Amino acid sequence: MRPCPSCVTTANCPEMHKHNSRRLLAERLTLAATRYQEAVVIPHCAKCLAPCCRLDSLVLELDWKQVKAFWRFDESRAAFDRRLSAGKGPVEIRPMNGAYYAHGKACPAYDEAHRLCRVYDQALKPRGCTDFPIYEDQGSVVADLRCEAVDPKALAGWIARFVGQGYRVAQSADEEFPFIVTFSVQRPGRASGDGLSGDCR
Ligand code: SF4
Ligand code: SF4
Repeated sequence: MRPCPSCVTTANCPEMHKHNSRRLLAERLTLAATRYQEAVVIPHCAKCLAPCCRLDSLVLELDWKQVKAFWRFDESRAAFDRRLSAGKGPVEIRPMNGAYYAHGKACPAYDEAHRLCRVYDQALKPRGCTDFPIYEDQGSVVADLRCEAVDPKALAGWIARFVGQGYRVAQSADEEFPFIVTFSVQRPGRASGDGLSGDCR
């Protein structure tokens, strides 16, 4: 057991117990999200009616390296930025705060015929693509219901199975973007994010 970062002990430290419980909960939720992607979402992609990679409703965040590779530019970033600000760049790309946002046209890395991502297993794949439509975030699972494969009721049951008995899974939609739903794990009588009890490890 690692010593507690607060009191440098390993025995009966309530802070350490809480820390370990939170870490364990995050691990379980990460596993639940990953398994749901593998078992439910990815098998649906080939028959999806509204593929996310077409970027009709989604916005893709990219860095310069990804923009350069996906659109196959051979110019410098400075030259590209000048072109964009002169209105001569791809209309689907907007720069903001050092990043680039693509929307309204299919991602160039999307193979429409085979419905595949050409950079699926590569470091170039944007983080947002890996996390979509479901990921763990600070002791909760966040799901994006713009993906038609996500069934909130089934997902709540799925998460409950991963965290074990004695917990309930509560859902709340984002006020501004109601298609973003957070699933938090709660033990009756305790606040959410409490972590797992000893008998659930
Ligand atoms: S929206 Fe969901 S099911 Fe459709 S292609 Fe994207 S990840 Fe796959
Ligand atoms: S990088 Fe791949 S997963 Fe991401 S939008 Fe493009 S084709 Fe889709």
